[in-house]
Amino acid sequence: MDKRTFLKTAGLLTLSGLVSSNAGLANTLLSNAPTLPQSTPETTAAGSFTLPALGFATDALEPHFDKATMELHHGKHHAAYIKNLNEAVSGTPFEGLSIEDILKKVTAKDAKIRNNGGGHYNHSLFWQSLAPATGQMPTGKLLAAINAKFGSMEQFKEAFNTAAKGVFGSGWVWLLTNNKGDMWIQTTPNQDNPLMKRLVKRTGKPLLMLDVWEHAYYLKYQNKRADYIDAFWKVINWQEIAKRM
Ligand code: MN
Repeated sequence: MDKRTFLKTAGLLTLSGLVSSNAGLANTLLSNAPTLPQSTPETTAAGSFTLPALGFATDALEPHFDKATMELHHGKHHAAYIKNLNEAVSGTPFEGLSIEDILKKVTAKDAKIRNNGGGHYNHSLFWQSLAPATGQMPTGKLLAAINAKFGSMEQFKEAFNTAAKGVFGSGWVWLLTNNKGDMWIQTTPNQDNPLMKRLVKRTGKPLLMLDVWEHAYYLKYQNKRADYIDAFWKVINWQEIAKRM
């Protein structure tokens, strides 16, 4: 029996004992359940982070991002980051903080929170950055900013793709901005992200991001990361990216 199960069981046993010996006191205690120390482990075990729904069906990005990959990537990989994050923050000063605040505070010593907190945040944002292919392109202020920074949309794509192909092993590539209006491309290893101010070289506000872990593309594209990167450009939700400016 692990500590959590033990505490939960002990709590229930304590309450059932009180019910038989002193129903009045037990009822008082039950009506004030949140103040009972025994209720805390149960509350914590449930965890506060939950899997966000995709904004589309798992086959909606076909043929660019296939259904089987989306099901595994969202339903298994992302779900696992959330389960592990809930476990990792339980009983630590990170418990109860927003995901953004967790990422701002996390250090290299908090490996499980770093990996799974990053995993949860990065994937949540990634799903919102995708939409079924309709030939969508950036417009307005966002397009103007991309043109000003990179010269043209084609040059921006080339720079982003080069960065994405250059990530050795698992990681992410980002288009970032800040409150000074700078815009730049940056990569992060594993599940790190540009909110982790104690871990990344430069913090920034994410606009667009791409997961280049093999789990994101191996089923459909095997070792051909470049083909997966090309497919990504067809399923970007540019309206959502523009909102982040
Ligand atoms: Mn992933």
